[in-house]
Amino acid sequence: MTLSVISAEEVARLLPYEECIPLMREAMIALSSGRTRQLLRGIIDLDGGRAFGVMPGALDGGPFGAKLVSVFPDNFEKGGRSHQGVVALFDPETGAPVAILDAGEITAIRTAAASAAATDVIARRDATRLAILGYGEQAWRHVQAIRHVRSIEQVSVWGRSIDRAVAFAQRVVETGLDSAAAPNAAAAVSQADIICTVTAAPEPILTSAMVRDGAHINAVGSSRAGPAEIATDLVARARFFADHREGVLAQGAEFLRARAEGRIDDDHLLGEIGEVMAGSLPGRLGDTDVTLYKSLGSILQDLAAGWHVHERLSRDNEAGY
Ligand code: NDP
Repeated sequence: MTLSVISAEEVARLLPYEECIPLMREAMIALSSGRTRQLLRGIIDLDGGRAFGVMPGALDGGPFGAKLVSVFPDNFEKGGRSHQGVVALFDPETGAPVAILDAGEITAIRTAAASAAATDVIARRDATRLAILGYGEQAWRHVQAIRHVRSIEQVSVWGRSIDRAVAFAQRVVETGLDSAAAPNAAAAVSQADIICTVTAAPEPILTSAMVRDGAHINAVGSSRAGPAEIATDLVARARFFADHREGVLAQGAEFLRARAEGRIDDDHLLGEIGEVMAGSLPGRLGDTDVTLYKSLGSILQDLAAGWHVHERLSRDNEAGY
């Protein structure tokens, strides 16, 4: 069996959101129904706020493998990509490694697609106003992905640099959406039905007072114990769902801070988004609920997305395209 190396361009071509969103939904349902196996993410801290992460896992009856990813936040400031790495996929029949895929692109697409799948089951059906805190890779991907699950009419953007927020909003306008930069996070989210926090902020940028009743929050930016984007009062107010319960109890910074302050206990984590998707756990109970999906990111998402790309490419090659 040949080992293929699949570039970022190939991943982008073969993993459109309309295909990746249902894949993420299936992966999260599989995770929550015990049909997957994974180790918690291992993180080695490097100098200067950089890090190296290792994420191994297996889909029952499907591929297994691991993601190796470096996170160099300073690359973003230089106009580059902060997340780089590889996803290594193994064939479940033979045990052979079959593909090495660009992890930066898979991570970019699958994270936003997973947030979109979560938004689809838990945000208000009539949600039209999206707020994005951050203007990096994930910010852009979230605007694209969330459009697939709700009729978004307006996108407000906030980040530490107003110039970069304005430039981001302009880029969004060029895709046919109304969009504007906000001078602060409170202004960005004040009218929002859906809020995505996609920053590397070490301390909370979103508090309960900023968020209106009925909003849904995708909390994506912190994927380890430590940095937290969401204030503990908002964690305590929200109906709180995890991508992976065990992961959030061990590494979900916002949840851990709120619990350490005595504002919540473990019961506040209502369950996994895969249970809501499967219909075994209620998500939103009413129009005024604030709901929160805590995304730490899962290797199962990478494996499902990577396998899809690998199979599509194999079929294309067999067909001689
Ligand atoms: P980028 O490097 O492309 O963007 C980082 C963003 O964070 C920029 O908007 C940056 O803007 C902002 N930022 C950095 N420091 C701060 C701060 N102190 N306060 C407010 N904003 C800040 O990264 P990505 O878009 O790829 O990822 C965004 C976050 O999401 C990262 O923390 C990343 O680790 C996480 N992530 C989570 C995943 C998951 O599965 N949950 C998957 C992938 C990423 P500026 O510096 O100008 O303020």
